[in-house]
Amino acid sequence: MMVAFTKIAFVGLGQMGIPMARHLVTAGFPVVGFDLSTVALEQFRAAGGRTAETITEALARADCVITMLPSGKIVQDVLLGGGAPLAGAAETALIIDMSSSAPSDTRVLQGRLPHRQRLVDAPVSGGVKRAVEGMLAIMTGGADADVDDALPLLQKMSAKIFRCGPVGAGHAMKAINNYVSGAGVIAAIEAVQLGQAFGLDPANMVDVLNASSGKNNATEVKMKQFILSGTFGSGFGVGLMAKDIRIAADLSRSLGLDQGQLQKTADTWEAAAKAVGGAADHTKIAEYLGRKM
Ligand code: NAD
Repeated sequence: MMVAFTKIAFVGLGQMGIPMARHLVTAGFPVVGFDLSTVALEQFRAAGGRTAETITEALARADCVITMLPSGKIVQDVLLGGGAPLAGAAETALIIDMSSSAPSDTRVLQGRLPHRQRLVDAPVSGGVKRAVEGMLAIMTGGADADVDDALPLLQKMSAKIFRCGPVGAGHAMKAINNYVSGAGVIAAIEAVQLGQAFGLDPANMVDVLNASSGKNNATEVKMKQFILSGTFGSGFGVGLMAKDIRIAADLSRSLGLDQGQLQKTADTWEAAAKAVGGAADHTKIAEYLGRKM
């Protein structure tokens, strides 16, 4: 039976959170948004959303809490920190963490829920463009019945929803995806830099790659659009990408695997974030890789 939520707190109205929450508002769900940034709150109100002034007010009596925050540590701080705002939410509230959190943090959060609240992790892929279009890929972790309850909300953000396993499985899948994505960005940039050094034309190279076996997400939707154009405006921060790939690298180590390429990719993204500043767009890694040439 479908649960009719009476109050959905949506915490984290950033580049992804606003378009995702907006789909819920448009569908008529009773959403109350919260973010530390007053600019974000104003943007959400301008998009037709209701907002709360404090996290405690946002979570009070909420029977669903959605988080879209930078990391799992921040999700824990926000829900369980000063005054433990989550304690004011409904006793059986459904918590849906859509941030790209570390699965280990997600399991810690599950163990620290103040009442009989239920946790589902449901991170996303596809970036701001797909968030706006309602076409994200969503990967869930959690008990089947809890994921079932989350579905009516998730379906407003995407038709591509994948069940990955118990709590934490969605977050593991997301970190693994971003390893593939982040390694692909580095490969595409280094390939074009190599071709340029030989005298090949960068735009022509991207066309060739996209018609060939070297095609990947970066060659298709990042190289010309944000890197060769010099706009660097994909809407995904380099610090967030570095965090995601470090999650995958730590997961690999914790499972006793020896995956050199993954560890090297995590190191490269961290060095790039340090060099260009974590808030810069992730496509700016091209400048870092360029400097090293
Ligand atoms: P963002 O930096 O644009 O937004 C994060 C928001 O969280 C900001 O508005 C910030 O003010 C708010 N915030 C931070 N700390 C807070 C706190 N203590 N209380 C309340 N609000 C707080 O980031 P984003 O790009 O929207 O990404 C959000 C999550 O989604 C991250 O985990 C990221 O890795 C993931 N993600 C991003 C993309 C993308 O393309 N941008 C794609 C997939 C997944």
